[in-house]
Parts: sequence; structure tokens; C-alpha cells
Amino acid sequence: MLCSDGPAELTHEQRQQLSNWGVQLREEKIARLEYQDDKLTGIVFTNNEVLPRRGILLRPPSYQHSHLATKLGCKFGSNDIVQVDESKQTSIPGLYAVGDVSSPYSQIAVAVAIGTLAAVAINHTLTEENLVQLR
Ligand SMILES: Cc1cc2nc3c(=O)[nH]c(=O)nc-3n(C[C@H](O)[C@H](O)[C@H](O)COP(=O)(O)OP(=O)(O)OC[C@H]3O[C@@H](n4cnc5c(N)ncnc54)[C@H](O)[C@@H]3O)c2cc1C
Repeated sequence: MLCSDGPAELTHEQRQQLSNWGVQLREEKIARLEYQDDKLTGIVFTNNEVLPRRGILLRPPSYQHSHLATKLGCKFGSNDIVQVDESKQTSIPGLYAVGDVSSPYSQIAVAVAIGTLAAVAINHTLTEENLVQLR
């Protein structure tokens, strides 16, 4: 069962695929979740219909918790993510962004990997600057 909480932005092909997999699509708006003793019992649609359920998987929207990147004037890409180049530098020279703030994946392994790439890039830049000063 897939509940889209309003009209699902799916193509005809995607709808067909869900149907082929036996996944029912419910596009009604969701009013609330029902639970008893801290356990989920169902999904309540705005027409008051209750869909009994013991578990759900959510895809919550992500947004920037801190306004720091906005205040600093960073450019943003899609999904409210700070735009970075290959070296993880933001649109502001010398300012790097790593982890969830600049990645859509929300995975620890990805955040760590991006941090490592940024560290390598920063080290490279600082080394180059030192070499220029030594000349
Ligand atoms: C409920 C949940 C479950 C998850 N489960 C998994 C999982 O099973 N496996 C997995 O790989 N990933 C999981 N993730 C994603 C994972 O937690 C993130 O991808 C990872 O923590 C990103 O690391 P980060 O350093 O970018 O950000 P964060 O870990 O969010 O660290 C950012 C830090 O900055 C601090 N901060 C924010 N604003 C300011 C400010 N203005 N001043 C000072 N400090 C500030 C915050 O308090 C926080 O400590 C889950 C996330 C959530 C929310």
C-alpha cells in the first residue's frame, strides 16, 4: 500500500508498475495517524476512513535546520541543499559544506565520505597557498 497524502506525482508507467507489483495507491489526504499504547493502529484519511496499519515507512521532507548557510549567502540547489562543487566548496570561495547540509542521501557513510573529500581538497588548497608564499 502506498499512501501519497494527496495526488501522487507519478507517471502512467510508474502507476502501472505499482499495479503490476500489487501495490495499491491511496491518494486521499491523510488527517492523522491513530495509535494505542504508543503503537500504530491505523492511518486516518480526511474523509474519516481508517486504514488499519501496524507499521509504516515514511519519507519525510528535509530542510535546513540552521540558517547559517543562508546568512553566509550560499547558493542552494534542489531540495534545499547547499550547492557545492566537486571539492565540496560552496559558492563562496573558501567555504566548504559537508554531510546532510549539502547531500540528499542522509546517510552517515556518505556524510563521512564527503567530509573526507572536503578535507583532502582543503589540504590541497592550503598546501598550494603555502607553496605560493614560499616562492
Ligand atoms: C531518525 C533518523 C534516523 C537515521 N538513521 C540512519 C541510519 O540508520 N543510517 C545512516 O547511515 N544514517 C541515518 N540517518 C542519517 C544520519 O543521521 C545523517 O546522514 C548524518 O547524521 C549526517 O551527519 P552530519 O554531520 O551531516 O549532520 P548531523 O549529524 O545532523 O550533525 C550536525 C550537527 O550540527 C549541529 N548544529 C546545527 N545547527 C547548528 C548551529 N547553528 N550551531 C552549532 N551547531 C549546530 C547539530 O546539533 C548537529 O549536532 C538518520 C537520520 C535520522 C534523522
